[in-house]
Amino acid sequence: MRKLCAHPLPWMLAGLLVVGAVLGAVAAALRFRTAVASMQPASHAAQDASEGPAQGQPAVAAPAPSVQEAEVEVPQRLLWPISGRLIRAFGWQYSGTFRDWRWHPGVDIAAPVGTPVRCAAAGRTVAVGTSWEMGLWLKVEHGGGLETVYAHLGSVRVGVGDRVAAGDQVGTVGEPGPGECADGPHLHFEVLIDGKAVDPMAWME
Ligand SMILES: [Zn+2]
Repeated sequence: MRKLCAHPLPWMLAGLLVVGAVLGAVAAALRFRTAVASMQPASHAAQDASEGPAQGQPAVAAPAPSVQEAEVEVPQRLLWPISGRLIRAFGWQYSGTFRDWRWHPGVDIAAPVGTPVRCAAAGRTVAVGTSWEMGLWLKVEHGGGLETVYAHLGSVRVGVGDRVAAGDQVGTVGEPGPGECADGPHLHFEVLIDGKAVDPMAWME
C-alpha cells in the first residue's frame, strides 16, 4: 500500500476508469430512456392511424388524380426506344458521311433493319415525315414541352394524333437517310425540350 501510495498514478488511473465506466453506464441508461420515450409517440401514432376514421378524426389522404391530371403528367425518365450499340453521342461529333465535325442533335443506336422501335414514354404522335437528313421520322409529344424524335425508320406503325404508351412499338429501323448513310442501319433518337434538342442520355433510365 505504501508503495502504491508513494506512486499514486495507478490509483488515479484506476479511479478515472471507474468514473468513466459509471458515466458511460449513466449515459447508456439515459439513451435507453430517450429511445423508449421516442418510441412511445410513434406507437401511439400508429394506433391512432389504425383507428383514425372510426374515432371521427379526418382521414388524411392525397386525392386521387383525375384522368386529365394523369394524362398531362410529364415523364421524368425515358425508356430506351431500342436495344443496340451507341454509335454516336449527342453534341459535336465526327461525321463519317460528310467527313467533318458537325452538331449531332441526338444519339445513334445501331440495330438491324426491321428492329422494333418503341416509344420512350407515354404521349401522342404529333408528326410523321421524311427528310433528306433523317429519312422517315416520327415525333411524339409527352407534355410539358418534352418531345422525342425517332429517325431513319423503315416503317411507322402509328398515325398522327394517336396516343401511345411507353414501350409501344411506333415503327421499325430502316436504312439510314443520306445524312447518316455511312453508319449503317441505326435509330437516330432525339429529345426536345420546347423544341430545343438536349442530350438524351440525361433522360434515359
Ligand atoms: Zn444521328
